[in-house]
Amino acid sequence: MTIAIAIVGYGKIAEDQHVPAIRANPGFRLAATVSRRKAGPVGVPAFASIADLRASGLRIDAVALCNTPAERPATAFEALAAGWHVLMEKPPAASLTAVDQMQAAAQAAGVTLFAGWHCRFGPAVSAARALLAGSRIDSLLIDWREDVRKWHPGQQWIWQAGGFGVFDPGINGLSVLSEILPIELAVSAARLDTPANRQTPIAARLEFCGPGVPPGAHGLFDWLEPDDRWNIHIGFEGRQLLLSHGGSRLALDGAVVPVAPEGEYPPLYRRFAELVARGTSEVDVRPLKLVADAFLLGERVNAPPFE
Ligand code: NAP
Repeated sequence: MTIAIAIVGYGKIAEDQHVPAIRANPGFRLAATVSRRKAGPVGVPAFASIADLRASGLRIDAVALCNTPAERPATAFEALAAGWHVLMEKPPAASLTAVDQMQAAAQAAGVTLFAGWHCRFGPAVSAARALLAGSRIDSLLIDWREDVRKWHPGQQWIWQAGGFGVFDPGINGLSVLSEILPIELAVSAARLDTPANRQTPIAARLEFCGPGVPPGAHGLFDWLEPDDRWNIHIGFEGRQLLLSHGGSRLALDGAVVPVAPEGEYPPLYRRFAELVARGTSEVDVRPLKLVADAFLLGERVNAPPFE
């Protein structure tokens, strides 16, 4: 049966990625959008709230929550109460407790809750994971940099409490790292460079620890880098792996490894359809835990104001 899906929160990612991925998948039908601000694609019924959508009587089987992480739990509870399956954009929430509550609500409602980490569906990620399986890790650097003005023009929520700052993109890298490594990372120390006029960091450095984690393993996150660099460098068993372009390209000892041609949102929707068909949920909070621990352990360093 085709899944009638509504997009909740019609911002940049909904328009750029979710609409095309839904339309390309015959298992889904875009049945509605919910946004306080903006109508969705022409011909798709648009509503200002989930309550209005419910009141319309339209058949809805699932929602994709593309709103901000701080808003996500309240909308998830409404959708789960309606008996709808829920796909969450990353990160699933701005609070770990809220994720627990969403999981409990999904279980009680008997529907699927899927915390989607789109970068994990990058074309080269599963190949990197296979290469590293069971290996000793010798060195580790996650180097995740982009230009906030290019990728987040006019977005204010990313600078507010619960907005994640540079960890809005950085958590994508951490989602990939936690997917491909055969060991579990913890954060031992963090530095959070935070503009004096903002609530969230514009740059960060994380030190990693844990059983099997090599000395010096660390992460660099920067939001003022004009040349995007979404790279993970891993030394293992005397070899060097580079996963670059956010999980799209892979090199081993400097030689390119061929990978699948397609990635991210189309396979993410295929996974969601599989989970719904199986009647199961998938919620991995490890990337969110790393960021939460960075905020718990982080030394705040004043950075110049950001305008
Ligand atoms: P966005 O464009 O700022 O939209 C997010 C929500 O913010 C919208 O649903 C909208 O709510 C509200 N909003 C946006 N602009 C507004 C404005 N000018 N005034 C008032 N409200 C406004 O954010 P996004 O980039 O799509 O990100 C949404 C989620 O997707 C985040 O969790 C993000 O981490 C994730 N994501 C983003 C990207 C990316 O490249 N942008 C990539 C992957 C994942 P209403 O619809 O109710 O008006």
